[in-house]
Amino acid sequence: MKIAIIGGGASGLACAVECGWEAAGQHRAVNITVFEAADRVGKKILATGNGRCNLMNKNEEMPYFGDDDFARFALKEYNLIKNLSFFATIGLYTRYDSEGRYYPLSNQASSVLDVLRFECEKFGFRFECSKNITDIKKVGDRFEVCGEKFDKVVLACGGKAGVKGYQSYDLLKKFGHSIITPRPALTKIKVKEISYVKQLKGIRHKGDLTLYIDGKKRAFESGEIQFTDYGLSGIAVMQLSSHITRERSENIKIVFDTVPGFSFDGLKESIDGWRYNNGDLACENLLTGFMPKKLGTVIMKMCGIPLNGKISALTDKNINDIIKTAQKLTFEVDSLRSFEDAQVTAGGADTREFDRTTMESKKVRGLYCVGEMLNVDGPCGGYNLMWAWSSGRLCGKSMLK
Ligand SMILES: Cc1cc2nc3c(=O)[nH]c(=O)nc-3n(C[C@H](O)[C@H](O)[C@H](O)COP(=O)(O)OP(=O)(O)OC[C@H]3O[C@@H](n4cnc5c(N)ncnc54)[C@H](O)[C@@H]3O)c2cc1C
Repeated sequence: MKIAIIGGGASGLACAVECGWEAAGQHRAVNITVFEAADRVGKKILATGNGRCNLMNKNEEMPYFGDDDFARFALKEYNLIKNLSFFATIGLYTRYDSEGRYYPLSNQASSVLDVLRFECEKFGFRFECSKNITDIKKVGDRFEVCGEKFDKVVLACGGKAGVKGYQSYDLLKKFGHSIITPRPALTKIKVKEISYVKQLKGIRHKGDLTLYIDGKKRAFESGEIQFTDYGLSGIAVMQLSSHITRERSENIKIVFDTVPGFSFDGLKESIDGWRYNNGDLACENLLTGFMPKKLGTVIMKMCGIPLNGKISALTDKNINDIIKTAQKLTFEVDSLRSFEDAQVTAGGADTREFDRTTMESKKVRGLYCVGEMLNVDGPCGGYNLMWAWSSGRLCGKSMLK
């Protein structure tokens, strides 16, 4: 059997390896060509997890965005244990951190790519790099790619996020498939009132973030927020962006509790105790024990407190205002940053047109689609690669059934 895989990324390479194993198990010959637009396969894998590749996560119950039901089949069929053993079999060992994120023992994303590549090469699969496929013809029961005939074609072209993307949704459209508008997800957020945020550029602080859309609580994240000259960044912020990207509302707010774990009264008691003994200090120091100084001074400014005034001059109302602001630092969302800053694509090929148990198109026999190209995206933490491995492997096996 001759198979063309369009896209030599995470899902395409996992698909090739699994297909090679299945063919070997069935004593069948399979001939796979991976067409890759870039000058080498797996470039995006190298960029993942800041070059360390967070390739899976312990928490298998985490819901996916887009079509979670569709994704669940592949994620159960090729679950964490099976994916860990997949990588161990091809020679990659892993460790996980306190948040359940798996990384290669080498701590280098290149190891993940290398073992996938080596296994493909062992089977004699062909990598055709610098081949941006823009046309696939259906000729009878077969397909024609770059003038060559194939029995099956897998579209594993990824999305538009991150490293240089190639416009590949058209390949699916030509076969009559629908595309749900691709949007950036897991990305940074631009906020409307920028003057205070600009003063905080470069500051990082851990806290609790709550997302409100049209006044209703929609999501909650705990983690580090990073201030930039246009708005907010950091993993917790990026997680919220995946909710925002699906919204059309203009009324989106993020409320940052900069002192998580403190009730209003608890914080008041702590501040009161300290200011009683430090009344001669300048107000800019009031929140020093709780957060980076710059963030504390911005909160003072927002409450109209003179930074050089003495702490002893603060009234009870001043303290109440400061606490309310520190616990509910509110940002109005302007927009999300572009695909360039995003880690994943929300939207993509409409999953209702594919069989979730095989990844085959319901419209065109022999055509398959896997990975980020489909309308499935996960949160930060290894979930998107987990989807790429699982969907790719499911497809690799089912093509030989
Ligand atoms: C900076 C960054 C960091 C990330 N970190 C993580 C992380 O740590 N953990 C995690 O789980 N996820 C992470 N992700 C997301 C993850 O990398 C993707 O979800 C995953 O790579 C998707 O796999 P894929 O095979 O579907 O697509 P890709 O890996 O994008 O592969 C698609 C391939 O197809 C090629 N291609 C596209 N169109 C064509 C065409 N027409 N012809 C030929 N070739 C084509 C592309 O060049 C590409 O090589 C990160 C993403 C980015 C951008």
